[in-house]
This record gives sequence, C-alpha cells and structure tokens, in this order.
Amino acid sequence: MTRIVIIGAGVLGTAISYTLKKCLEDTVDVLLLEKHDGPGQETSQFNSGVLHSGIHSEPKSFKARFARKGNVMAKQFCKDNDVPLSEQGMLIVATYGDLVHLAMRGRDFLKMYHNGKDQGINMKILMSWNIPHIEPYIRGAGALYIPSVAVVDSVAFVQALFRSAKEAGARSLFNTKVVELEAVGERYHIRTEKFADVYDMVINAAGLYADEIAKMAGFNQYTVYPYRGEYYEVLGKERELVNRLIYPVPITGSAGKGIHFLKKPDGRLFLGPNARLVPTKEYYEEDKTPPEVFRDAAVRFCSDLKNAELRWAYSGIRPKVVQEDELHNDPDFIFSVDNEKPFLLNIIGYESPGLSGALAAAEYVKDVVNKYIKSR
Ligand SMILES: Cc1cc2nc3c(=O)[nH]c(=O)nc-3n(C[C@H](O)[C@H](O)[C@H](O)COP(=O)(O)OP(=O)(O)OC[C@H]3O[C@@H](n4cnc5c(N)ncnc54)[C@H](O)[C@@H]3O)c2cc1C
Repeated sequence: MTRIVIIGAGVLGTAISYTLKKCLEDTVDVLLLEKHDGPGQETSQFNSGVLHSGIHSEPKSFKARFARKGNVMAKQFCKDNDVPLSEQGMLIVATYGDLVHLAMRGRDFLKMYHNGKDQGINMKILMSWNIPHIEPYIRGAGALYIPSVAVVDSVAFVQALFRSAKEAGARSLFNTKVVELEAVGERYHIRTEKFADVYDMVINAAGLYADEIAKMAGFNQYTVYPYRGEYYEVLGKERELVNRLIYPVPITGSAGKGIHFLKKPDGRLFLGPNARLVPTKEYYEEDKTPPEVFRDAAVRFCSDLKNAELRWAYSGIRPKVVQEDELHNDPDFIFSVDNEKPFLLNIIGYESPGLSGALAAAEYVKDVVNKYIKSR
C-alpha cells in the first residue's frame, strides 16, 4: 500500500483526499494533515463561493479547465450531499462608463467573450434594454449572461468533502502543523509539532503557505504574495434589489475579477472583493478599506444602492505567485512534480477559481499519482 500524505485541509486537500481514496481504494493509505482544529479554516471559507464557468481564464489553462469541469462536478456533489447551492447565473455587465474607455474595456470584454466561446460555455449577449428583464434594478450598456454559474456555501462544501473523504477511508489529523520535510532514500520524513513519520508521497496543498512547505523540501523557487479581498454586507431592504451575481468587465492586469454583487444561498447580499497586496499572510482585519469604495463600485450598476447601509463582513487572502507589476500575465495554477522518488507534488498559487475547480483538480492529481504508483 502506498502511503500518501496531503498537507492542508482546505477545499483542495479535502477534495484530493476524497478522490484518491474513492478511486484508488486499498492501494493507498491517505492521511490529511492540518494545522487548525478543523477543515477549511483559511482561504476556503473566506471567498465568494462562486462556482465559476471558466470564462475569466485562458481556455487551455488549468484555471479554465478545472473551473469548467469542476463547476459541473461541484454542483452535482452539492446536490448529492445537501450543501446549500444557488443556481442563479452570472451577469457580466459593461457600464456606460466603460463605453468612455471603449478602446481598453472593449478589448477586455471581447477577450472574455472569446474565452467563453472557445470553451463552448453557454452564454447570452444582452443589450442594455434586456438587462432589466433579468435584473430589474441593474443598468448597463450591455452584458453577458452565463446561466451555469452558481453560488455555494463554501464552508458547508468543504465540510461535506471532508465527511466524504472520511467515509471513503481517508484519515486526518488536526492541530498538526508540518514543520519539517526531508527526502531520505525513497521516502519523505515529515515532522509535525506532534509526531514524525515517513511517507512514499507528499502532496503540498498548503494554500498561502505552500511556498514555505516547498522550501522545507529544498524547493526555493516559489513565493506566495498575499492579496486581500474584503467584503461588505448590504443591510436593510436594499438587499432585495439584486438576485444574482453581477460582475464588472474584468480589467487585464488587476489582481481580482472586480468588485461584484454576491447573493449568497441564504439570501444575504454582499459587495466585494477588492484586491490589495497586504504585508502578511494573516492580515485579515487591519486597515479596512472604507465602504465608499464598495458603494462607488456598486452604484455604477445599481443607483438605488447609493444610500444603502453597508457593514464590513470579512476578508480572504489570495495566494498569488506574482507581484503587482507582473499581474498582467495572470499566471496559471502551478501543479509541479518537483521530486519523483520520493514523490512530491507542489501546488502553488491555487487562487480563484480554486473553489470551483477543486474536484476537477483532485481528479487530475489522482491521475498523476496513479501513473506514478503504476510506474514504481
Ligand atoms: C477574496 C477571495 C474570493 C474568492 N472567490 C472565489 C470564488 O468565488 N470562486 C472560486 O472558485 N474561488 C474563489 N477564491 C479562491 C478559493 O477560495 C481558493 O482557490 C481555495 O479556497 C484555495 O483552497 P486551498 O485548499 O488551496 O487553500 P486553503 O483553503 O488556504 O487551505 C490550505 C490549508 O493548509 C493549511 N496549512 C498551511 N500550512 C500548513 C502546515 N505547515 N501544516 C499543516 N497545515 C497547513 C492551512 O491551515 C489551510 O487550512 C477566492 C479567494 C479569495 C481570497
């Protein structure tokens, strides 16, 4: 039996442990190590919970392929496991303000449209007068409507993945921080704050800290930069004004997809996230961005929100692999087998659409692992 350890019980680590054990059964012993006292306590709970279509990414990238396939897999998984899911669709709206900068924003809009077309994503172009038929209070010069996009309760999603992994026979240890990783012969020696043991294969799914895990094993080439995204909740009757995801046309070279309207499955309405490089990987609450920034972004689409009460809600931190002057490259997820014997897979920069793509990414990892086991 091949002994596999996965470091990090976020959406990715839990999806991988579930998929490995479900598909490879008794040929593998799967252990999930997590430093917190439960699964999904970092980036996997502080996000928008959107199951993306892949339209925001280059069609051949891991980001697009995993989102496209993972969207379908995650929706089915949520239905099978009673995870709250809202199949509301996404509107990507070009504002009249965007028309002023048509040369630049038109190019961004077209790029996204072609991304969608090349991937065969079901989408509709809406003229300005058709937008209110779908969202009565939203105004824009035109929009793309993508019905397949959904919003999930991301905490419940990770919990359900974890339960399924456990039922399939994967083991897990919480409050267990990995502090050392060393290749000795054909095995990895792992030391945690609690114990030390040896494994045949290591999968590094440590999110914001994946660069530090890689460094422990001697792979110094990765750096994860923390980009924070904050959210405000819309309070009062204005939260009823919007019923589905409303996204702006993304700007090439910006760190996020732009501040959007997020209607959660429980009916609450949020605005966010912005994107700021922050000084540390734990910089969740300090130096909050004022609500006006979010209000200004929202009234471009919905003027009725100009007096709405906004309350700071939460923030999440994106694990990006580039600094601000390199953002235009929109780097792909890194899935790199950096050592074969013993096996080490480093997963770095697993940012958005990582929640959407988790089950598809897990299947990809399962195929890589299976190929390696068969070749031994
Ligand atoms: C603001 C924001 C909005 C987003 N919106 C979306 C969205 O709408 N849709 C979408 O698809 N994606 C979205 N994402 C991206 C998505 O949330 C992430 O891609 C995904 O959650 C990453 O999962 P993960 O398992 O790789 O990382 P994490 O959830 O960070 O899990 C990594 C785990 O590793 C553990 N760990 C770290 N170091 C150690 C150690 N030494 N020992 C043991 N354990 C360790 C951590 O404690 C953590 O639990 C968003 C992200 C942000 C920040």
